[in-house]
Amino acid sequence: MVHARYVQWDSAHFPGYFGLMATTSRKRKTESAGGVSALLAADPLAGSERKPPRVSFEFFPPKTEEMEEKLWQTIKRVEPLGPRFVSVTYGAGGSTRARTHATVLRIRTDTGLEPAAHLTCIGAPRDAIDAVARLYWDSGIRHVVALRGDPPGGEGRYTPHPGGYAYATDLVAGLKRIAPFEISVAAYPEMHPEAASPEADLDNLKRKIDAGADRTITQFFFEVDSYLRFVDRAHAKGVDVPIVPGILPVTNFAQVKKFAALCGASIPAWMPPMFDGLDADPDTRRLVAASIAAEQCRRLQAHGIEDFHFYTLNRADLIVAICHMIGVRGPVSADAVKAPVG
Ligand SMILES: Cc1cc2nc3c(=O)[nH]c(=O)nc-3n(C[C@H](O)[C@H](O)[C@H](O)COP(=O)(O)OP(=O)(O)OC[C@H]3O[C@@H](n4cnc5c(N)ncnc54)[C@H](O)[C@@H]3O)c2cc1C
Repeated sequence: MVHARYVQWDSAHFPGYFGLMATTSRKRKTESAGGVSALLAADPLAGSERKPPRVSFEFFPPKTEEMEEKLWQTIKRVEPLGPRFVSVTYGAGGSTRARTHATVLRIRTDTGLEPAAHLTCIGAPRDAIDAVARLYWDSGIRHVVALRGDPPGGEGRYTPHPGGYAYATDLVAGLKRIAPFEISVAAYPEMHPEAASPEADLDNLKRKIDAGADRTITQFFFEVDSYLRFVDRAHAKGVDVPIVPGILPVTNFAQVKKFAALCGASIPAWMPPMFDGLDADPDTRRLVAASIAAEQCRRLQAHGIEDFHFYTLNRADLIVAICHMIGVRGPVSADAVKAPVG
């Protein structure tokens, strides 16, 4: 039931980092218990003199030529924003293996971006996964997002592949044996749904860091407090690498609600009314989505967060708008300045 959360995002064309450190608990201000007022309380001018945050973008590998063209338009459009890196997901059961490889390698050769390849433990013995990792290293890919993954098809209990890496910790250790990759791993502010307890989940995160991970990227969340509390608990546990918030702009609320239930992310009470009556109005939904995600980032910025990882859904427009609002801007293009509007 909780499995294949990632596959669903991928197959619905609706997919699912870096320097946050110990400043959050000290900088934390008292937040009201959610509500629109809390969301809106972020002072739009606060931090206007702050230096722009660092961002990273996540894409999923395209399935069709049309999707591929769209992805490359997106990549070209976000490239001037100077992301720290861009990552490409890996479908459940290795279902996107070839497409993930092709996309990551093309980012390496055709752009100035730093690509990161997601890799999971699912559906392959260690030798096969090691061979993929060596291919990446030999092709100049230096950053891997190392994950356990979920069983293909979205159903059933996870069982490690015979002879495979069982958990993300094992994969991190295996990758480090192959080459000195930069490694990111997943973290769950509201707990991984299969974890025995929040403590057990944090112990698992600590094991991944001890095995050699350099940073964590979180599952998406909407409650800023949940993330901040999680960071405090992780620091108390000795997690001393960046815990980068994963930001998901919500354009399709019904779908995200379903997905959130599967991966244990809570939906704040103020959120559903924001999308009420907009089912047939995607343009307004997109404006609302950009505004909510930008407010979430700005509230995080107010707590000293300086790195954000965006789940882009392979779309540039929302991401460019959100980045603009939080101070991440590329050089102004000739197209943008050629004709005044209005
Ligand atoms: C930023 C991000 C990117 C992602 N990208 C992808 C992707 O590209 N492709 C994809 O398929 N999925 C992806 N996922 C989803 C991820 O694969 C799932 O959430 C998966 O269920 C857990 O992966 P993990 O790496 O966190 O697993 P792990 O860290 O291995 O943990 C999984 C669960 O097992 C438990 N556990 C760990 N070790 C043990 C042990 N020794 N014994 C018993 N239990 C243990 C943990 O507490 C946890 O509940 C991503 C998730 C995030 C947050």
